[in-house]
Amino acid sequence: MAHDGFALTLRTKVKAARNDTVEEKNSAANAHHKAAARLRRREAQAFAASIGERKGARVAIVGAGPTGLWLAVLIARKHASFAKGPNGLVITRRHNAPTVDVFEKREKRRPGADERAHGARSIVLAITQQTSALLNRHLHSPHGFAPISRVGQIESVLLAEFERYAAAGFGRTQFGEEVSDPDELHARGYDVVFVASGRRHASDAWRAARGMESLVDSTSAATVLEFWGATPSSDLWASAAAAASRPIAPARLFVRPGADAGRGWIWLVGLPEPLSEKVRRGVQGGAQDGAHTPQKACALQAVLQAVLAEGAGARDGALSLPGAAATLEALAVLDTALKVQGARVGWTEAAYWRSANVVHAPSTVPSTAPIAAGLPRGPTLLIGDACCGRPFWLGSTLNGHFADLEVLVNEGTWHANSWAAEGVNAFGAYIERMRALRRCGEQRPPAEFRRPTAQESALVYHAPGRRGMHDAIAADLLRTAAAAARRLRARAVGVDRAEIVRTQRLSPA
Ligand SMILES: Cc1cc2nc3c(=O)[nH]c(=O)nc-3n(C[C@H](O)[C@H](O)[C@H](O)COP(=O)(O)OP(=O)(O)OC[C@H]3O[C@@H](n4cnc5c(N)ncnc54)[C@H](O)[C@@H]3O)c2cc1C
Repeated sequence: MAHDGFALTLRTKVKAARNDTVEEKNSAANAHHKAAARLRRREAQAFAASIGERKGARVAIVGAGPTGLWLAVLIARKHASFAKGPNGLVITRRHNAPTVDVFEKREKRRPGADERAHGARSIVLAITQQTSALLNRHLHSPHGFAPISRVGQIESVLLAEFERYAAAGFGRTQFGEEVSDPDELHARGYDVVFVASGRRHASDAWRAARGMESLVDSTSAATVLEFWGATPSSDLWASAAAAASRPIAPARLFVRPGADAGRGWIWLVGLPEPLSEKVRRGVQGGAQDGAHTPQKACALQAVLQAVLAEGAGARDGALSLPGAAATLEALAVLDTALKVQGARVGWTEAAYWRSANVVHAPSTVPSTAPIAAGLPRGPTLLIGDACCGRPFWLGSTLNGHFADLEVLVNEGTWHANSWAAEGVNAFGAYIERMRALRRCGEQRPPAEFRRPTAQESALVYHAPGRRGMHDAIAADLLRTAAAAARRLRARAVGVDRAEIVRTQRLSPA
């Protein structure tokens, strides 16, 4: 009996001690929540005091590509507060925070949607660790973006993130809405408009009227081979590319993974102009149809040979063009290393481009749409590929855009009483960065900073003793450089390509 009494007392004491511990824990948690709530209130008050009665900007973004959505996420994140709720993260829009509406001409991705739908693009981009870390610092669900990501995947991740903010009242994404004149969005009540519609959307006339012409610093023709069914994993492709590059130096060769395993791209850049031109004509002449289906054992070499042989009796002539034998040798090296099952040849021209200016105040441009009385008119700015870029095989274009936009959001002004008065100064840090780093709106005379011409680069590359140098190709690069300069001049005055090729044949190399 005495034993039972002792056990009961002990149980009661243990229970009481447990209750005490639970209560202590509860009260510690309550104190923690109260402190966090107090902190959030103080932060909100300090923020409200700092912006005074200034209203948040109404922001419009044209284009829901990677840069448009990244900007939308950064603006919203900067003006949100976060708390842990019973069902997960709770996002709250702060006092007078800006709103962001994104306009995208493509449709949203649905099951069975084609490659043109939003989030479906399969181009694979090289993403640096630094960019991956930057993105993950601002996203709620981390992703491994580096070393490569599909552009569609980046868009989908950023869209999902922005939709969380949109649900908290930050704005919306409007799919299937093409904006023909971004300045008209000011007439719809937007204070600041960002043009994130890629390199090709804004027309030359639209840009010229705003002093935002797209300037091409230099261009390179690239022969592109898409392949599939390669058997070694893509980790081993870099060493194969290095071995294959030797015969064609100083022209360059890049091997990039594609959307599926075993699929990829080979870029040949800086090939002698007559060879590159022959490939272009062969590709456009449909040399790869039917009869030229490559042999399995030498797919890459065979498809290029088929393209070069396009045109009656041209085969021997094409194969004796400067650089042709070296290029086929490089592809033979890749055939042995990659063991591809099929390939197809393409041709493209890539450029370094930049906009003459990244910003303009629409009040200085005669508007095509009537502006309602009393509506504010802030600036219109270019971002992403609409603003500047480099040949895609350098792999740094989008990485650079992401970093530029972090500066834009951190240093920009997102509140004002009068956007017309605030004008372009609201984004001074971004404008200055784009001038200094990307040469957009650069006022300095070209003599102070000038990218070497292709001809000068060719001379540098022609230094004696460079490993794998083929004199025939190097000498021909000089002709290539002259041809590139002619192309640029021709583009400026609107001469067509056939005319350039004709003058090329007539002029001495
Ligand atoms: C083959 C290839 C390989 C590349 N590889 C790399 C790489 O390895 N690393 C790298 O950093 N970069 C790479 N790039 C570059 C990178 O893809 C671009 O820098 C990036 O896609 C630019 O993003 P953006 O949002 O500025 O423009 P875009 O991606 O062009 O998006 C523009 C968006 O605007 C929409 N739009 C256009 N017009 C309108 C309109 N009038 N109204 C509404 N919406 C509109 C379009 O539908 C699109 O969604 C590569 C590019 C290519 C083509």
